[in-house]
Amino acid sequence: MRGKTSASLLAFAALGACVPQASPPQAAAAPAPVSAPTPTPAIMPAPPALPTAPPPTMQYLYGSGEAAALSIAAYRSLTDFAQTQVAKHPADSVILAEGSTLDAPRFEACGTKPLAAVFDVDETMILNVGEEWHEASSGLPYDSKVWDKWEKTGADKVAPVPGAVAAVNALRRMGVTVIFNTNRLAENAAQTAAAIKFAGLGDAVHRETLFLKGDDNMGSAKDGRRTTIAAKYCVIAMGGDQLGDFTDLFNQQGMSVKGRRDEVSSGWAARLWGAGWFLLPNPVYGSAIKGGFDDVFPMDRRWSVPPEETK
Ligand SMILES: [Mg+2]
Repeated sequence: MRGKTSASLLAFAALGACVPQASPPQAAAAPAPVSAPTPTPAIMPAPPALPTAPPPTMQYLYGSGEAAALSIAAYRSLTDFAQTQVAKHPADSVILAEGSTLDAPRFEACGTKPLAAVFDVDETMILNVGEEWHEASSGLPYDSKVWDKWEKTGADKVAPVPGAVAAVNALRRMGVTVIFNTNRLAENAAQTAAAIKFAGLGDAVHRETLFLKGDDNMGSAKDGRRTTIAAKYCVIAMGGDQLGDFTDLFNQQGMSVKGRRDEVSSGWAARLWGAGWFLLPNPVYGSAIKGGFDDVFPMDRRWSVPPEETK
């Protein structure tokens, strides 16, 4: 479902390496009567210390004004763009048609279909504050079994992404249907609808305005569900925190970190960001969190402190 890394684990491991110090030597004393030697207590490793602060990625996403400002800006751009599309009823959805490739994209036709906007849920419309608190405070990594329990029981421990409530309200006032397409499990549909409702995002009806992993046989891939939605609606905008919330083409096997970034940054895809496709920030987990030094830092942009500055 979700792939995650946890920076807090590093601090957790380092702290766990601490051991108690040996007692200082005692001053000489009068000889004691001979008796059986006292066993020397074994030095046991201290239990791992719990993290004292959330990892920086969570501080940013769940705590910072900067992330809130980014999200509000993304949702304002989305509603402003939607307003222009409502006025002209575009010829094409912003959903790629079946058979599209990165080199040959085609978009679903709108015809006279009613308008809709399609959103991912996790870290797009709602912040999973309760579950991320569990991970941050325990030092435990993401676990799909724990996440399943979270879906089932955490509906009242989520928060709306800043700007999301205003956006869905504005879209509905324009006559645009708000649809959720998430990789939460179909078997937890009722609890996910409850979480969406609790966050102030209104009603979500399974297989009508709520599409989930398990609704088809494509697993976490969302293109099939998008095709189902586009058969009924002219989709004028999509919002997500992962590239897979827009097309599965960016998650093809073998695509390098740089190749993926290049595809997103050029041609037809680049023209959609902020004009049909709207991305929300998520540095905490997901498909963006990967790459070694060679993927992230080009050889011709590497710098080190010049030797004379180190003296
Ligand atoms: Mg998401």
